[in-house]
Amino acid sequence: MSEQRFSSYIGGQWVEGEGDQADENPADLASPVGHYGTLDAARTAQAVDAAATAFPKWSLSSPQQRADILDFVGSEILARKAELGRLLAREEGKTLAESIGEAARAGQIFKFFAGEALRIPGEKLASTRPGVDVEITREPVGTVGIIAPWNFPLAIPAWKIAPALAYGNTVVFKPAEIVPGCAWAIAEILSRAGLPEGVFNMVLGSGRVVGQALVEHNGLDALSFTGSVPTGHALLKQAAARALKVQLEMGGKNPLVVLADADLDVAVECAVNGAYFSTGQRCTASSRLIVESVVYDEFVARIQARLATLTVGDPLEEGVHIGPVASQAQLDTDLSYIQAGHDDGAELLAGGRRVERGTEGHFLAPTLFAANPSDRIAREEIFGPVAALLRADDYDHALALANDTEFGLCAGICTTSLKHATHFKRHAQAGMVMVNLPTAGVDPHVPFGGRKASSYGPREQGRYAVEFYTTVKTAYTAA
Ligand code: NAD
Repeated sequence: MSEQRFSSYIGGQWVEGEGDQADENPADLASPVGHYGTLDAARTAQAVDAAATAFPKWSLSSPQQRADILDFVGSEILARKAELGRLLAREEGKTLAESIGEAARAGQIFKFFAGEALRIPGEKLASTRPGVDVEITREPVGTVGIIAPWNFPLAIPAWKIAPALAYGNTVVFKPAEIVPGCAWAIAEILSRAGLPEGVFNMVLGSGRVVGQALVEHNGLDALSFTGSVPTGHALLKQAAARALKVQLEMGGKNPLVVLADADLDVAVECAVNGAYFSTGQRCTASSRLIVESVVYDEFVARIQARLATLTVGDPLEEGVHIGPVASQAQLDTDLSYIQAGHDDGAELLAGGRRVERGTEGHFLAPTLFAANPSDRIAREEIFGPVAALLRADDYDHALALANDTEFGLCAGICTTSLKHATHFKRHAQAGMVMVNLPTAGVDPHVPFGGRKASSYGPREQGRYAVEFYTTVKTAYTAA
């Protein structure tokens, strides 16, 4: 595949950035996916200006026009899911099957919000005053900044851009630095979808320059961010200072509890899928495996045997289960946490080392430590194929360990007990709960989000997206 140069998209025009940044292929550093130039603050401001200028007219566009445009985008992504999935696999490193699945999900999300554009909810109530009608309607919030991470470079932009446009907002989308190709692919499809100029803009560059210029621009009305806790909390302070509507989806340290009564085949599959698929680079990854003492040794033996069957390698190759870590920076983080595991006295049960392949890439063996709840690897988000195994005395202890974290995105339990499953669903301090399922893997038509340090503001996805992307108006009419 030839190398491409990816551009930004502002006011209906493709805009070249400065310099020549390589878009790395983490499985083969010698063959970059492409190159791109980065914008400066002034160019980023132009994108916000373009979106703000386009907003008044677009906010009054017909729901059918918006539905047709989003449907076009969804159909094209679905028709090209194999090609887009291949781009994603080369750029981010998840396996081809996972990447094609993500592309399909992005297409389905655009299709879902095409329908939602035609179903914008409202209410009409009787007033407390005779002869007066009260209407509650929803209007777009305005110009929305979208800042996305690298780990779902098609699906996360889709689940922010699609509802933003469906409800009549204009958009400036800033992708993560290491996935400009997927961002460009989305922008390229949107550029042919019939949107008026300025309604959708995409800006390539660093968080420090482009992200900051976006957030600091007075023309911005709302900010939807997904990324790490430190970045999210820094942005929250800036947003609060100027009363910007904000939605943050951040990190996780998601527990998967395995009780003594669990079907251990199911439990091991949930653990392996949740902790290691997509190279463990999911905010919903099961990075804490909490196993009841009675079955602990058997669980360890089974998961070690299962991990030995997994192949780490080039995500485009058949038979590969786990692709490379997405970047050198993330690999350095993963290796530093493996060292921290050793330093804190955790016992290495699997992996813990880089893997050599035919190409130079960021390959890391799936890693499992028997840890203590206070160890850094059991408390801090690593965002790689590294999991901490914790021993629990009984269900109550397991639940307490599961909730003993600053995060609250997703919590899972493997059990055949209705009593424990029901109790866990009610008492897990998380925005999402899974019973006999991996913590990662969610449906696009229902709300997504967490509690505690994991999330801030209204939920994403499904019908709940209307909360963030619209503002409510209450109108009174004397009959
Ligand atoms: P990150 O916080 O480093 O970057 C996220 C985005 O913010 C990038 O586009 C980056 O360029 C931008 N950014 C960085 N500094 C900025 C600044 N000062 N001003 C404005 N923008 C700035 O996160 P990442 O490494 O790209 O992604 C990994 C993180 O994302 C993990 O913590 C993971 O848990 C989280 N994540 C959360 C969810 C969720 O829905 N909860 C989903 C996926 C990933």
